[in-house]
Amino acid sequence: MKVITIDGPAGAGKSTIAKIAAAKLGFTYIDTGAMYRAITYKVLKNGCDLADSAKIIALAGRSEIRLDNGKIFLDGEDVSEKIRTRQVTNRTSIIAAMGEVRKILRDKQRSFAKIQNLVMEGRDIGSVVFPDAEYKFYLDASISERARRRYAELRAKGSDVKMEEIVKDINERDNLDLNRGLCPLVIPKGAYVIDSTNKTIEEVADIIVTHAGK
Ligand code: C5P
Repeated sequence: MKVITIDGPAGAGKSTIAKIAAAKLGFTYIDTGAMYRAITYKVLKNGCDLADSAKIIALAGRSEIRLDNGKIFLDGEDVSEKIRTRQVTNRTSIIAAMGEVRKILRDKQRSFAKIQNLVMEGRDIGSVVFPDAEYKFYLDASISERARRRYAELRAKGSDVKMEEIVKDINERDNLDLNRGLCPLVIPKGAYVIDSTNKTIEEVADIIVTHAGK
């Protein structure tokens, strides 16, 4: 089956754009960040020590993750909203740095492609999960634009988060995701790089659809 990969840092617009591109192409959209977030949510809910990797890996191995129509289910429970809290967001990069957790989720991500065409977004999709994908994209934007988008998104949901907190969170997350030893965020070999700073969502989605639709 065909896979279109979209990688990039937090706030580059990956989810919104991947969703639109998938709908236009008739492909299934997969948000791999939501999978790492769901495991993190479970780890926190179970009160696991973040340093206890053996326990966390065992927990990840026993988790049933299902993505359905933009929603994510963990062991049958809809956790789509619960995985978006600041607490989960800021811990996810720690869990995502564990090799065994990555392997469990990577196998699952690869299995999705056996039965359907996909637009899959994350941090290592074009570099590690599907290095042979035909169409790979790397989406970026300036840090101030990424922070501005995240701020608008959270404020619209009623959060009273401050801009300085968002800039700090994004910088910390970039630092962990770019500098980890395993599967760091990189521009995948052969990826088409799009800077979305001065582009609308529709413009970026159209670039992807036009390239991948060829
Ligand atoms: O994309 P999102 O912001 O939801 O991702 C949350 C976190 O999950 C990232 O900051 C990163 O640490 C991790 N992640 C990852 N590999 C992926 C997708 C997400 O390590 N393919």
